[in-house]
Amino acid sequence: MKKGGISVQTENIFPVIKRWLYSDKDIFLRELVSNACDAITRHKRLASLSEAKESVEPYVINVTINKELKTVTISDNGVGMTEEEVDKYINNMAISGALEFISKYESDDSKGGGIIGHFGLGFYSAFMVADNVEMETKSYTDGGAVHWDCVESGEYEMTASDKETRGTEICLHINENELEYLDYARIKGILNKYCAYMPYEIYCIEGDKKERVNASEPIWQKAATEVKEEDYNEQYKSMFSDYRDPLFSVHINADYPLNFKGVLFFPAQRGNFEPSEGVIKLFYNSVFVADNIKGIVPDYLSCLSGALDCPELPLNVSRSYLQDDSYVRKLSAYIVKKIADKLCKLKNDDFDKYTKLWSVISPYIEYGCIKDVKFYERAKNAVLLKNTDGSYVSLDAVLEGDEDKRIYYTTDEQAQSYYVSLFTAKNIPVYLLDTVVDSQFTSFIESKNDKVKFLRVDSSTDDLGSAAEEDDKLIKLFANAASKDKEMVSFAALGEDSAPALIKLSEEGRRMADMMRMYSMVNGGAASIPTEEELVINTDSSIVKKLSELKKDKAVIVAKHIYYNAIVSNRGLSKDELSDMLANNKKMYDFI
Ligand code: ADP
Ligand code: MG
Repeated sequence: MKKGGISVQTENIFPVIKRWLYSDKDIFLRELVSNACDAITRHKRLASLSEAKESVEPYVINVTINKELKTVTISDNGVGMTEEEVDKYINNMAISGALEFISKYESDDSKGGGIIGHFGLGFYSAFMVADNVEMETKSYTDGGAVHWDCVESGEYEMTASDKETRGTEICLHINENELEYLDYARIKGILNKYCAYMPYEIYCIEGDKKERVNASEPIWQKAATEVKEEDYNEQYKSMFSDYRDPLFSVHINADYPLNFKGVLFFPAQRGNFEPSEGVIKLFYNSVFVADNIKGIVPDYLSCLSGALDCPELPLNVSRSYLQDDSYVRKLSAYIVKKIADKLCKLKNDDFDKYTKLWSVISPYIEYGCIKDVKFYERAKNAVLLKNTDGSYVSLDAVLEGDEDKRIYYTTDEQAQSYYVSLFTAKNIPVYLLDTVVDSQFTSFIESKNDKVKFLRVDSSTDDLGSAAEEDDKLIKLFANAASKDKEMVSFAALGEDSAPALIKLSEEGRRMADMMRMYSMVNGGAASIPTEEELVINTDSSIVKKLSELKKDKAVIVAKHIYYNAIVSNRGLSKDELSDMLANNKKMYDFI
């Protein structure tokens, strides 16, 4: 029998462990189960190298609760330990890990609450919940089994054990204040949280109750070629308790310069562009570490959910440490790249299918382009425009070529339907850009392409007809009828079938006004500047031609009628305008 004190300098190690890890005691189970996993992995590896005999039984980890004895036992059939190894790894090395931990954190009280990783301290975290820990272990080598018994004060005893099977069994005698850890549901819950994706079978056992904790291997541990779309969908739904399939998923298997695996899901959206926060779970060799570390995905992709397994995660990580870590920034940059590439691939693989996706994700992608030029550079070929005829076209196709481009759009298909019809009658495509993000996005695209101009359908007649000669008399007549300055009346030959007149708004002025309106909507107050409305007279219109034959008083009435028709094709009337229009109509009926 060997007896000892774990170390003189470390008499106070247990109170310190308890104090530091108090906020998250649950992780003792994560640590002990991941040690068990490590031990199995080592055995599997040794067996594959023929340095150990193949395991006859399947590898398994059992977590067993005994309420009567007030114990929780974690057993594995991994490598086990010889007496020397227990001495080396448990009596000395684990302690040195603990010591390092203490020297690192004891001086800084503020970080204590956030410590989540503290790898290397694993074994001794058992003392957060146990007064006394016993271990039976038998090495895969043929040495005898060891019984190790340690009480909280740091005293241990090692004796021979009659354990016959390979592996390690760690029995925690739960402290009177921690009896919640004898509750089956509690233990199962912790195991589900931290151990759901560990690579060997894990069971939670109490009496006759025995439940498997972890499902099969998580898909991100597999090669992307082995995984079908249904598998991704199932993984997403079970992992994030959603009943809907994700819109798409991205499988990551990076080895250089970053080494990590993962899968990200773009969840189905509810209704409109409704920002929903996703959850990114971070793993370290299949052991859950934390979720929603800030900065892992940029804001514009914050709806993403997924899992990342990062074996290079810095050790002794705390949540606050990770938030501004350069490693996390690199991860994020890589993720951004993968998402952009996936979008381009989806578009190229099946354009029709992609258009359906695009109709849902466009606000995120456009916003991402505006926010992050690196994302824009990679994702721009995946941007689509929706034609008012219902078809979609790739933005890069629209922008192709060096010549100046005028791209017409509508912000409200119904309200602007008259204008839209003028363009489509001439086979000029009109795109639907009706979200707040769309308007910022088009300005952004213009800033990136100086030959490109987005024009709302009511901002230009340049492509609808040719310029027409000015007619002083008509200018005066319409300026008078519409109570406008003469400069706001102009002429264009728009064809006989078009309306006699149109309202035209300056694109810049209108965008500015839209922005002001948005701003005052957000900030309260009613500041809004009206956009000046230019009246464009269609010189091809037969009624306009006839105006010169009418007497002046009649001509004014008809001109006003034409003006109000143009207005209602563009916007709603104010109260005063409506009564003025009705009064004018009445005058017109009088002379018919
Ligand atoms: P770490 O896992 O980071 O090495 P721990 O304190 O968790 O630190 O464990 C210390 C060491 O004890 C391990 O490296 C391993 O050698 C040994 N050990 C712990 N648990 C087991 C186990 N279940 N089977 C075999 N060896 C173990
Ligand atoms: Mg460990």
